[in-house]
Amino acid sequence: MMNFNASAPVLEVTKLKKHFPVLRGMLRREVARVQAVDGVSFSIAPGETLCLVGESGSGKSTVGKLILRLIQPTGGTIRLDGIDVTKLGEGALRQHRRRVQMVFQDPYSSLNPKLTAGTIVAEPIENFESLSADEREVRVLGMLRKVGLRPDAIRRYPFEFSGGQRQRLAIARALAGNPSLMVADEPVSALDVSVQAQVLNLLMDLKEELKLAYLFISHDLGVVEHIGDRIAVMYLGRIVEIARKETIFDEPLHPYSEALITAAPVPNPRFKRARLLIEGDVPSPMNPPSGCRFHTRCPFVGPRCRSEDPQLREVTPGHFVACHLREAGYRGRLPRPG
Ligand code: SF4
Repeated sequence: MMNFNASAPVLEVTKLKKHFPVLRGMLRREVARVQAVDGVSFSIAPGETLCLVGESGSGKSTVGKLILRLIQPTGGTIRLDGIDVTKLGEGALRQHRRRVQMVFQDPYSSLNPKLTAGTIVAEPIENFESLSADEREVRVLGMLRKVGLRPDAIRRYPFEFSGGQRQRLAIARALAGNPSLMVADEPVSALDVSVQAQVLNLLMDLKEELKLAYLFISHDLGVVEHIGDRIAVMYLGRIVEIARKETIFDEPLHPYSEALITAAPVPNPRFKRARLLIEGDVPSPMNPPSGCRFHTRCPFVGPRCRSEDPQLREVTPGHFVACHLREAGYRGRLPRPG
């Protein structure tokens, strides 16, 4: 178990798996399994933002859905505030969904267009607290103010807001349930660049004020560098590297992390490495490569990589990497192939 912070974690995920069966024929027989998430472990401390990054198909959004229990895990445990939520019944699941809230990429499709902003934000309050109408309105106005929306927003409908305002409204709704953890899945990628920074700053301010923990899912390393405390890099259903943000950006040890970071247009004067090129697409999670799952694209692949699965190991305190080349503690730059 990886706990990077002295305080008890808000979230502890251990060996989490989600395999989707592929069914064929009249009898709907299982012919294969898509290993969307395959043995992922991490923890998040109070007030911490852990960013999950990786290409599409890496399994990062599936991890978010599993934590919300929108889908049932195939294996592993998810502990929220010390309680294993993987086997909760319907009643307890409602409480769980209050303590973990999600902010989606597209706020418009996640907000009911027929409801006013006031009703949308009041819903989670009504579900879990018995307040008078006046008390509820005061609470809703407080939430709207917290996310930077004016009081008159309470009577407006989602289509009357701009994209950035709609995402603020979605955040207000998420906060209304008083969550311990927010899962934000690409929450700014559908917004204009100028608005992205405002919403990111809002999320950071709220984290500071409310000591919220975030699981922030993104493919955009510029966004991650802005908001993250730690970064977990996912590839084909596994975490291949996890460390503090500065460590990953300054000294990525897994070739896949290095390829992502050197390809990203993130201004980083400390990082002077030449781009590490990887070729090809992410292989199918239905039939992942043997040994190291990255071996079909890795410029440093060796014979051992094709047969032996590298385990995630701690190479320096808090810095974990799954690569045979790093097992002996070698931290230097890998010689470029050719
Ligand atoms: Fe590349 Fe081998 Fe390391 Fe996998 S284990 S990342 S294939 S060097």
